[in-house]
Amino acid sequence: MVSPVVRVNPDGTVTIKTPCENTATVSGVTAVGPVDVVIDPGHGGSESGATGVNGLTERTVNLEVSKHVISALTAAGLRPLLTRTGDYRVTLSERAKIAHLANPRAFVSVHHNGASDGPRDGPGTEVFYQHSSSASRRLGGLIYEEVVAALKQYQGIAWQADTDAGVKTRLNTSGGDYYAMVRQPAPVVAVLAELLFLSNPPEADLVARPDVQSAEGNAVARGIVRYLTTPDPGSGYTEAYPRTEPAGGGGGLSGCTDPPLQ
Ligand SMILES: [Zn+2]
Repeated sequence: MVSPVVRVNPDGTVTIKTPCENTATVSGVTAVGPVDVVIDPGHGGSESGATGVNGLTERTVNLEVSKHVISALTAAGLRPLLTRTGDYRVTLSERAKIAHLANPRAFVSVHHNGASDGPRDGPGTEVFYQHSSSASRRLGGLIYEEVVAALKQYQGIAWQADTDAGVKTRLNTSGGDYYAMVRQPAPVVAVLAELLFLSNPPEADLVARPDVQSAEGNAVARGIVRYLTTPDPGSGYTEAYPRTEPAGGGGGLSGCTDPPLQ
């Protein structure tokens, strides 16, 4: 578990903010050192996210793919950190607080999509970036480029997509970034990636495979490494069509139950 520290107590224990934003005193904690990249596996615990007809839940596959991102980033010499290390709820503001305290060079929220518009001749990957940040836009374009290239290698998949698949912004009624995990980490450079559609049975079966989870994670990591080490522009930029449906997933305090803390 990764938690913000409230204070270090005289007896050596540490008071933390829990994933559900309660306060708890624990011992035996390890301080997190400098962090280059924060990876945020979407959903968790009672908040499943999208679910495939094969029973695969977003909370599970997001974490598995995120662990592969962490391995690949570590192998590339970077110091990454997960906002969630197991199957438990973490509020969105808690995830953002971890981002602010870690102050990484990039924050990537990893998701899988539901409710596509229809068939597409290729993966319907979507990446949402911070509308006022050219760095966030480029990070999104590089992750998109790598993920689509990796997924395209799987032949004979009846892909589905939204008609505006690609790299884009979505704004709320106040003109800010719609998704909390794009908006709240700022000024940290952040994107939210919807890698493929769990609601599409062939894609749910594909991403149930450990080798595909690994391929996705490695692709996200390659995009991040290119963002950090090259001036490459990325690709897949598009305009989002207007959306009125609320984002699923909640992410607030309601019904949040903390995992065992020790
Ligand atoms: Zn999600």
